[in-house]
Amino acid sequence: MASWWGSLPGHSGGTAPVSHRLPPIAIAYCEAYGRSDDPISGVTLLIVPIADFSGRVRPDACPGALQVHEAADGPLARVRLPGGAVSVAQLHELASCAAELGTGVLELTSRANVQVRGLSRPEVFAGRIASVGLLPSPAHERVRNIVASPLSGRGPVGLLDVLAPADALDRALCARPRLAGLPGRFLFALDDGTGDVIGLGADVTFAATGPRDGRLLLAGTDTGLTTGPGSAIPLMIRAAEAFLDERPGDAPRAWRVHELANGPARITARLRGDTPPPASSLPGLRPPAAIGGRRAGRVAQWDGRVAVEAVVPLGRLTPAQARTLADAGHPVRLTPWRTAVLLDLSPAEADRATKALDAAGLVTDPDSPWSAVTACTGRPGCAKALADVRADARRWVESLAGVPGTPVHWAGCERRCGLPRGRVVQMIATTDGYEERQE
Ligand code: SF4
Repeated sequence: MASWWGSLPGHSGGTAPVSHRLPPIAIAYCEAYGRSDDPISGVTLLIVPIADFSGRVRPDACPGALQVHEAADGPLARVRLPGGAVSVAQLHELASCAAELGTGVLELTSRANVQVRGLSRPEVFAGRIASVGLLPSPAHERVRNIVASPLSGRGPVGLLDVLAPADALDRALCARPRLAGLPGRFLFALDDGTGDVIGLGADVTFAATGPRDGRLLLAGTDTGLTTGPGSAIPLMIRAAEAFLDERPGDAPRAWRVHELANGPARITARLRGDTPPPASSLPGLRPPAAIGGRRAGRVAQWDGRVAVEAVVPLGRLTPAQARTLADAGHPVRLTPWRTAVLLDLSPAEADRATKALDAAGLVTDPDSPWSAVTACTGRPGCAKALADVRADARRWVESLAGVPGTPVHWAGCERRCGLPRGRVVQMIATTDGYEERQE
C-alpha cells in the first residue's frame, strides 16, 4: 500500500459559522419557499422544495442536511460522509440525533451516506451535526458525494490508501465556490485497485492501477488519462469543472456525465490540454467487483491486522448499534452496500468486536440471509409505497434456512429505489401482492 496524495487547500472539518455562506440561489429559495434560522447554531435551513443549486427548478430527489425532504413520515435529512468515513464523536451525535429528533434509526444509503427521517426539529438537527464537523461547507453540502473503497488498500488486492485522498478531494471540492453548482446527483469515486467502487457508475472515478499510479474514468469510461503522485485530486476537480463547462448547452437536463451527449469524450478533450499523453501501454484496470454479493465477516489486512465488516440489516442502523460500532474505538467506514467496516483491529480486538456487533443485531456471518437482502423505504416513510416492504422482507428472511443464491431486493413500487447493480431477484409490491422479477 502507498500514499502519495498531494495536499490541497480546503476546509478544516471544523464548525465555522455557516449561515452567511449559502449561495444566492439558496437564499432565493428560502425567501420563496421557507427558511428557518437557528439562533444558537447559526444554521440556515431550507424547508421545501428540493431543488438543484445549478438552476434546475424541478424538484430532484437529493435531500441534504439543510435542504430537507418532506417525506410521508416527516422531514428527512441526508448527511454526506465522503468516503463513508465517520468519526466516533460524529457517530455518537448522529445516533443521539436519530433517537431524540427522528424516528430512532439511521438509514444507510447506496452512496455510504446516512439519513434521518421524521425529524421533529430539522434546524436543531442541522446545528448539532454542524457542531461535530459534518457540515463543513453549507453551500456544498449536497455535492459532497464521494465514495471510496472501504478497506482502502488494506485488503489482499488493494494498492493504495484512498481514504485520505477522499478527504483531500472533499476539501478541494468545498474550497471551490463554483463546484457548489454541481448537480446533487454528481458522484466521485476513489477505487483502491480492488474494483469494488468502479462499478458504481460514478461521474468521475480515480482507479488505482499500481502503488503509485492510476487512471481517470468518466461515467465508467476509461479515459486513458493517467495520474502520478499528487495529481489525481486536481485532475478529478478539473474533470468536475470541465463537466460544468460542457454542460450549458445540455442544461438543465444533464445532471450526470452520461447525460451529456458524448460527455466522457468532451470532458477528456478539455483535460488532455494539461495532462501528459496516455502511455502507450497502460496497466490493466481491475474489472468491477461483484456488487450485492456477500459482504460480512473478517478480512485479513496486509499489515497483519484485521478488518471486520458487518451487514446492517435493511440498511437501518439503530442508535445502540451505532454506539456499538463507535465504542470499538477503531476507524468506522460505512459502505455503498450498506455495511459498516471496522479497520485496523488486532485479532483479539476483532474477536471482541465481532461478538459485540453480533449481540447488537449487526451481522458478521457471511452465510446469514441478511448478507443478500435489501429493501427500499416502503410504507410508512414513502407516499408511493404499496406495502411495508421492510416488514415483509424481515418476515421472509426469518423464514429462510440459509443465504439466498441470488441477492434479493424488495421494493414498494415500480420505481425500485435502491436496487443493487448486478443480478438481483426483485420483489416488487403491486396492488395485488408482490411480483417476482429478475432482470
Ligand atoms: S421504490 Fe417506490 S415505495 Fe420504494 S422508496 Fe422508491 S418510490 Fe418509495
